[in-house]
Amino acid sequence: MITRMSTLFLRTLREDPAEAEVPSHRLLVRAGYVRRVAPGIYSWLPLGLRVLRNIERAVREEMDAIGAQEIHLPALLPKEPYEATGRWTEYGPNMFRLKDRKNGDYLLGPTHEELFAQTVKGEYNSYRDFPVILYQIQTKYRDEERPRAGILRGREFVMKDSYSFDLDDEQLLRSYQLHRQAYVRLFDRLELDYTVVSATSGAMGGSASEEFLAECATGEDTFVRSSESDYAANVEAVTTPAPPEGRIEDHPPAEIHHTPDTPTIETLVEFLNSESGQRTFTAADTLKNVLVKTRAPGAEEWELLAVGVPGDREVDMKRLEAALEPLEVALLDEADFEANPFLVKGYVGPLALRDNEVRYLVDPRVVRGTAWATGADKPDHHVVDLVCGRDFTPDGTIEAAEVREGDPSPDGRGVLRSARGIEIGHIFQLGRKYTDAISLDALGQDGKPKRVTMGSYGVGVSRLVAAIAEQHNDELGLVWPREVAPADVHVVIAGKDESLATEAERISAELDGAGISVILDDRNASPGVKFADAELVGVPTILVVGKGLSNGVVEVKDRAGGERTEIATDRIVGHLV
Ligand code: ATP
Ligand code: MG
Ligand code: MG
Ligand code: MG
Repeated sequence: MITRMSTLFLRTLREDPAEAEVPSHRLLVRAGYVRRVAPGIYSWLPLGLRVLRNIERAVREEMDAIGAQEIHLPALLPKEPYEATGRWTEYGPNMFRLKDRKNGDYLLGPTHEELFAQTVKGEYNSYRDFPVILYQIQTKYRDEERPRAGILRGREFVMKDSYSFDLDDEQLLRSYQLHRQAYVRLFDRLELDYTVVSATSGAMGGSASEEFLAECATGEDTFVRSSESDYAANVEAVTTPAPPEGRIEDHPPAEIHHTPDTPTIETLVEFLNSESGQRTFTAADTLKNVLVKTRAPGAEEWELLAVGVPGDREVDMKRLEAALEPLEVALLDEADFEANPFLVKGYVGPLALRDNEVRYLVDPRVVRGTAWATGADKPDHHVVDLVCGRDFTPDGTIEAAEVREGDPSPDGRGVLRSARGIEIGHIFQLGRKYTDAISLDALGQDGKPKRVTMGSYGVGVSRLVAAIAEQHNDELGLVWPREVAPADVHVVIAGKDESLATEAERISAELDGAGISVILDDRNASPGVKFADAELVGVPTILVVGKGLSNGVVEVKDRAGGERTEIATDRIVGHLV
């Protein structure tokens, strides 16, 4: 395809738009890719739409490759399915709700678990029908409190959402892994620098979930990763996702196992004071981030279950470990840990001192580093003891603990480094929350009904346009990866001489014939204006037909690297394919 700048529906802007805070927003508006209509609502102009379509194509190819089938559900939805799962109210003010002329309640779909489950129920009913993975690429609506950075956080946006339906947990895990691999291939292909992090499931419900975060200083998500292992987690997942209900007194301390030489508060305080040199710990202190070795009652092996460093100073961990060696306090259920594929053996846990005894916090929602590992569906399973300390407000209610840069990694390898990212994908093993709500069963081989289990998987397709732009730009403009660029080559006619235009047309036609898409700047404008626009628009190769033509050459500039090469006009196609 040849796109002529003289007729292209495009007006680039010289000035940055006043409201743009991040580079992608600034550049996508300046280069004429998108235009704002209302907060979080944008129009796609020709070049923007091409990038969006290119991303959609890559998404489709990767989804089709794992055997997912594309369907398309309405965005305008009746209330009933969402009422059945409780999300009509639970979803909160982010859901656009509306009435039809008969006063019936409707919503604009923010995500489609309910309707996909219902659709499968409508068609399938035997174990032979499963597994199945369905997806759509569709416009979603969320009344975001703070629409931000142009298309990065829209109130109307394009999402690829897919849903897997399986008969057991093993199959679900397989569907989940297929998606994980598809996402890795997709984001690699889009040349994104990203990290897969453990995440919380939020409004979606269910247990295991991971996010794909494109690294970016202006990203809204903060994540931590280990300096020495591939442990990485959204900080939301290493803090308290949902504080336990009620007050501390409602959670009675469980039994703590002691050996005869379990260290008392005196032992520990003495040790810590000798280490700190300046600060005196008292029995009233909650000593956060202290390394604790534990072992199951009667077990031979010691296991490192809680690790950390005191927040305000260095401690010789080896000596502390030795001091705590006799402490035998393992009440965590091994089987529970093993059942979870995302488990790391170890967590960052505050150690508490009370009643002259060493206690420690193991409620997964209170102790950072464990919430995602143990599963929010067993809220009280690991509560051993809850005590009042730093992580609690003075009135005794419980607040989240925050993980910090430099904290030891929960897997015991390395320390945590924090970074910021843009959430570009999110994969969930939902389980049966939605299939329970509508009794989605498959008739088993034994003639008995079996409840189907679900996964849900999202990619922010329109957000990806911005995320890629965030990672691929320079002071001159956008620098698209070839896979998503609005064209392959941007041909600039640099001069008024008729022969330049003729040769540029000829080269463009030749490139087009070879399957290379071209933007041809045939406008009646100065070379300076054309060069500036070419850099701003960000097509991977800029081809300048100018002075060199008298010597039979044109200039080829690589937009990303900046290298310029002179190529003979008759060799140009061979050079570019
Ligand atoms: P965020 O944390 O950014 O609000 P989310 O966790 O609410 O996103 P999901 O429900 O996981 O989003 O939706 C799947 C994907 O859809 C996200 O990973 C993200 O890429 C994209 N997405 C979500 N909200 C928006 C939005 N307002 N604008 C553009 N893309 C979005
Ligand atoms: Mg959100
Ligand atoms: Mg999120
Ligand atoms: Mg998410």
